[in-house]
Amino acid sequence: MSKNGKGKLVLYTGSSGVGKGTIMQELLKRDKNIRLSVSNTTREPRKGEIDGVHYHFVTEEQFKSIIPNDGYLEYAKYCDNYYGTPRKPVEEMLDKGYNVFLEIEVQGGIQIMEKYPDVLSIFILPPSMEVLEKRLRNRGTEDEETVLERLHEAENEIKYAEKYKYNVVNGELEKAVDEILDILKRET
Ligand code: 5GP
Repeated sequence: MSKNGKGKLVLYTGSSGVGKGTIMQELLKRDKNIRLSVSNTTREPRKGEIDGVHYHFVTEEQFKSIIPNDGYLEYAKYCDNYYGTPRKPVEEMLDKGYNVFLEIEVQGGIQIMEKYPDVLSIFILPPSMEVLEKRLRNRGTEDEETVLERLHEAENEIKYAEKYKYNVVNGELEKAVDEILDILKRET
C-alpha cells in the first residue's frame, strides 16, 4: 500500500502462451494484497473458463455500450476480438489498498502508461521464441491458424518490452514469481 493508503496499479503484459496466467495464479496465492482486474471480452470462452472469473464474456454491442461513459480504463482490439478493463472495479480495489494487476496486451498497456505515468509496468518474456511456440501448441486450446496468428502477434508485442520498467523472463515459474514479488516489495 502506498503512503496515501491507495494500492498500486500494475500493468502486467506478456504474449499469448508466455505463462503469465500461471504466474498470476501463483502471485494471487502468495500475496493476499494482490487483486486481478477481470476484463470484458467479446472472445468466445475457452474450455474451463468461467464468466465473471476469467473474463466477463460479452457481445460486441454490450462491449461497446460503456465506451461513451468512460467505462474503460483502456480497451483494444486483439486478434479480431475486443478486450477492455472496466474502470470502476479497478478504482474501488485501489481505494481499498489492493495492488491491482491489469493483465493486458500492449496497445492497452500503452494507453495505461500514458494515462497513469506512475503505473508499475512489468513485461513477461519467454526464454526464447521456440519455447513460446512449443507452449502455445501444447496448450491445445487453439487451432493451427490461431496459433500462427498469436505467434505473429507475440513477435510484434515483444518489441514493446523495452517500454516497460521491468522485464521478467519466465524460464522457471518459481523464479519469475519471486522476482515479481520482489519488484512489488521494492515499488510499494
Ligand atoms: P486471451 O484471448 O489469450 O485471453 O487474451 C489475449 C490478449 O488480450 C492477452 O495478451 C491478454 O493479456 C489481453 N487482454 C486481456 N484482457 C484485456 C483487456 O482488458 N485489455 C487489453 N488491452 N488486453 C487484454
